[in-house]
Amino acid sequence: METVQIVTTDPKLPLEELYHKGNDLLRESLTQYTHLFKKGDHVLVKPNLLSARDIDMGVTTHPKTLDVVLKFLLELETVPFVGDSPPDGNGYAVAKKTGLIEVCEKYNVNFVELDEPVKVKHSGEYDFSISKKVLDADKIVSLAKLKTHSLTILTLAVKNTFGCIPGKEKASWHFKALNNNNFAKLMVEICSVVNPTLNIVDGLVAHEGNGPSNGKPKRQGVIFLSENPFALDDAIASCLGVPRKKYPILIEAGKKKLIPQYQTTGEWSGSMALPKTSLVFSGLNFISNRFNVFKKKPSIDKERCIKCRKCERNCPVQAIDIDSFNIDYSKCIRCYVCHEVCPEDAIKLVGTLFK
Ligand code: SF4
Ligand code: SF4
Repeated sequence: METVQIVTTDPKLPLEELYHKGNDLLRESLTQYTHLFKKGDHVLVKPNLLSARDIDMGVTTHPKTLDVVLKFLLELETVPFVGDSPPDGNGYAVAKKTGLIEVCEKYNVNFVELDEPVKVKHSGEYDFSISKKVLDADKIVSLAKLKTHSLTILTLAVKNTFGCIPGKEKASWHFKALNNNNFAKLMVEICSVVNPTLNIVDGLVAHEGNGPSNGKPKRQGVIFLSENPFALDDAIASCLGVPRKKYPILIEAGKKKLIPQYQTTGEWSGSMALPKTSLVFSGLNFISNRFNVFKKKPSIDKERCIKCRKCERNCPVQAIDIDSFNIDYSKCIRCYVCHEVCPEDAIKLVGTLFK
C-alpha cells in the first residue's frame, strides 16, 4: 500500500524558525526514501518556479527546502540537477531571484531550462511534448508548493509536472484543452508520463486565495511526501475538505484508477481560502465548465499595470491588447494564464452572470 507522510510544525513560529524547523523535519522524513535512489542516478529536482515573487509569498519553492533535498541526494551519491520551465520560459532568472541558484552553486549542482520538447508516446488522449531533460533523467523529485489555483482550484504534486512541458507550449494547451475538465485530464496524463519518483509538497508557507501567484501567503507549517503523486494530492485535498468528486484533477485520476489505496502517517487539518473563480462547493461547477458567462473574467487594472506584456505574450488566444488595456471577451477562454503570469497583480478576476 502507498503511504503519504504528513509532517507538521507550529505555523505560529516566527517565520525563520518555521522554515528552519520545518526543513529539519523534512530532512528526517527523507531518510525513509533512500531506497528509491542509487549511486550515479541522474536525478532531476523539479521545483515550482512560476514567477520571481518575494519568497515569503509562498509562490515558489523555498531555497531552504531545495537545500535539504540536494544534500539528501548528494549524500546518496546521486547526480542531482535542478530544472523547470515557467510560462515565460526563463527558469534561470526566476531561480536566481528566488535564491535557488545560490543553493545550486553551493553544492555545484547544475540548473537547466526544461526546453528541447520531445513528443512522447503514451496511452492517453493528448499529444504533448515533454522536455528531453526530463525524459533523460533516471529519477525525478517533484518539489511543489501547497497553493490554490484560479483554474484548477489547487496546484499540488500532479500539477507541478506541467512545468515539464517547455515554456510557451504550456499556454497553447489551455486553448487546446479548452475547459477545466479536459485540462485536468491533460494534467493527469502529463503526470503519468513524467512519473516522479518522489513527490514533496511544501506548505510551511502556503499560498491561498487567487493563486497560484496573486493570492496571499498562509503559514500552514506542513509538508507532505509520497512516492505517489495522485495519493498525495488526494490526501491534501482531503485534509483541506475539498472532496475528490469536486476536484477535477482527482476526478480524472479516479476515472483512470490512478488513485491507489494509501495510508497516511501524521495528521493535519487545515483550511485555505479557495480562488474566487472556484464554484467547487456551489454545485455550479458542471455548468461553469461549459459556459463562460458563469466564469469570472479577467480585467486589467490600469493603475497597477507596468506594461511588461507578459499577459499579452502568454494569452493562448491573443485576446489581450495592452496598448489599449483591452481584452476581447469573445475570444477569451477564461484560462486565467494572464492572471497567473502577471507580476503586479494587475489582472483582476471580475463578475459572473450570478454576481
Ligand atoms: S485573456 Fe487571460 S483568461 Fe482570457 S484567454 Fe487570454 S490569458 Fe486566458
Ligand atoms: S502582465 Fe500584468 S503588469 Fe504585465 S502587462 Fe499584463 S497586466 Fe500589465
